[in-house]
Amino acid sequence: MSVATASWTSRDGTLRSPLLEARGLVAGFTTRAFGSMAGSVYPESVQAANRDALARQLGFGLLARVKQVHGNSVVRAERAIEPRPEADALWTDRAGVLLGIAAADCVPVLVADGAGRIGAAHAGWQGTMLGVVGSLMAALKGDGARASQVVAALGPSIGPCCYVIDESRAKMLRPLGDHLQASDGRIVFDLWSANVAQLRSFGVRDIEVAGICTKCGGRDLWSYRARDAEGRYGTQLAFVGRPA
Ligand SMILES: [Zn+2]
Repeated sequence: MSVATASWTSRDGTLRSPLLEARGLVAGFTTRAFGSMAGSVYPESVQAANRDALARQLGFGLLARVKQVHGNSVVRAERAIEPRPEADALWTDRAGVLLGIAAADCVPVLVADGAGRIGAAHAGWQGTMLGVVGSLMAALKGDGARASQVVAALGPSIGPCCYVIDESRAKMLRPLGDHLQASDGRIVFDLWSANVAQLRSFGVRDIEVAGICTKCGGRDLWSYRARDAEGRYGTQLAFVGRPA
């Protein structure tokens, strides 16, 4: 069992997961250097072009995404699916399919089972409360994945340094376990430890936490909590794919 805070490395405008890339995958998170991948700060046509450029640069012809709704549904992605189904996790066993999860403060969780299956989940407080990572693990296990062989990486997101929540939300999140801290009259939620706990409860042994806060961690990232004066925001794309 190992939970490591690993420095995700900067490469070509993206941050990469050392744990997953050491296993032959292409896995990481875009930065503002790649522009916005979703959100409202640029027109959709510009963001679609940014996503195409990313997939091309990473060597993938297909980018599979879902319409994220802060839930816990999981879909299997054999290819890019249009229209995108409503879900917050996706997985595939196909080489050449790049899985993408848009995130600006929610934590992207990328997994691989060592037998060709890869998955990605989008976990904000709602997805975490609903156990979206557990739903993804259940889908992989249902297809024959062995949890003990799964490795997981948590990408950048709003960190426990900055994720202040109110008492009504804290009340909903308390049943998840000890992932809330109170100081100076503020309550903060630790999305990272909450999702690590879910992965562990499913038997995942090797977990990497990027430990980069989208709001205060530098690294040229968009944060939903750092929206512009008009309320517009940009979004990163977390990605994982097995080269064909
Ligand atoms: Zn922070």
